[in-house]
Amino acid sequence: MDLGLDLGLSNLGAAADNAYDVVIIGGGPAGTSTAIYTARADLRTLVIDKGLTAGALGITTKISNYPGVPGPISGAELVEIMRQQAESFGATFITDKVVGLDLSSDPKMVMAGTGTFTAKAVVLATGSMGRTSSVKGEEEFLGRGVSYCATCDGAFFRDQDVAVIGNNDEALEEALFLTKFAAKVYLIVPTPELKAREFLVHEITESAKVEVMLGTRLKEVIGETLVTGVRVQPRGGAEQVLPVSGAFVYLQGGKPITDYLMEQLPTSVEGCLAVDAEMQTAVPGVFAIGDLLCTHIKQAVIAAADGVIAAVAVDKYIHGRKKLQIDWN
Ligand SMILES: Cc1cc2nc3c(=O)[nH]c(=O)nc-3n(C[C@H](O)[C@H](O)[C@H](O)COP(=O)(O)OP(=O)(O)OC[C@H]3O[C@@H](n4cnc5c(N)ncnc54)[C@H](O)[C@@H]3O)c2cc1C
Repeated sequence: MDLGLDLGLSNLGAAADNAYDVVIIGGGPAGTSTAIYTARADLRTLVIDKGLTAGALGITTKISNYPGVPGPISGAELVEIMRQQAESFGATFITDKVVGLDLSSDPKMVMAGTGTFTAKAVVLATGSMGRTSSVKGEEEFLGRGVSYCATCDGAFFRDQDVAVIGNNDEALEEALFLTKFAAKVYLIVPTPELKAREFLVHEITESAKVEVMLGTRLKEVIGETLVTGVRVQPRGGAEQVLPVSGAFVYLQGGKPITDYLMEQLPTSVEGCLAVDAEMQTAVPGVFAIGDLLCTHIKQAVIAAADGVIAAVAVDKYIHGRKKLQIDWN
């Protein structure tokens, strides 16, 4: 039994209405700025984002230094305003997690939990909130009960108990998704309160299938061939083992998120992608922007500026132009 990426990648055919000029992976300030410009340039634009508070700006409580927006405003509110602006020009946003890409095909293929999309150009804007598998047992049981994608693997856990570990929109959305299949969902939250959008917090607390464990750390994933439980510890309390057969981990860190690339692009030792002056990677038609590039100054306005450079370059690439062309209207 393989509960990992294979399921998400098996559906390689894309429906015609899933065909886009440009697919942008990540809807933070970088990806959303690209969408504003590509949609305005009449390119059929899709942004796939796994959750507003799974991004660096999305988790920022107050921001007062974004030009033109005196604030203070929450990062999530600022991203929402940007997204509405992109939507007003025709961009489509969906909440989903990209689990794989095929950059060698023409058009390029983008595999997400709910389906496959094709694109003439792809923009990578997934930020740097990633982490390595650091919890004991996490790597050992990956694909054998440990998963990072409930939409890909949730159906394997019908009538079983599972644990979701994390505290952001993505974790709560995935926990709610799992209630369709699982008998019980433990939501293990390392901090004392939930940090996700209000409607998600409401749905989670109302769900009869979800038990929220606040201020609780995941210490170990345990099992034999498959996962049989997770060892957790509440703050100031004793460790306990929750008997679950699935552990869905959505913890955040400070590494560039590139796992879905499946080594199709070279990265530095730190996991950073390299791009040229037009934000294009080593593969023509594939662009990377924002915190994903390990820019030495990580700020929303810089990520947004990267997005504009990439958008203009995407337009040049798709139309086979020799020079960049900007529509100033
Ligand atoms: C605590 C904190 C405070 C900050 N304060 C400020 C500030 O005051 N001013 C300022 O200018 N900057 C601030 N920053 C920095 C700023 O937030 C970042 O530089 C900026 O958000 C980077 O934008 P980005 O679009 O590259 O990445 P992000 O904002 O991280 O967005 C990446 C997006 O990609 C999505 N994603 C990731 N993986 C996938 C996947 N596999 N499939 C689909 N979607 C995916 C995520 O859901 C996320 O929405 C702060 C950062 C932090 C962490």
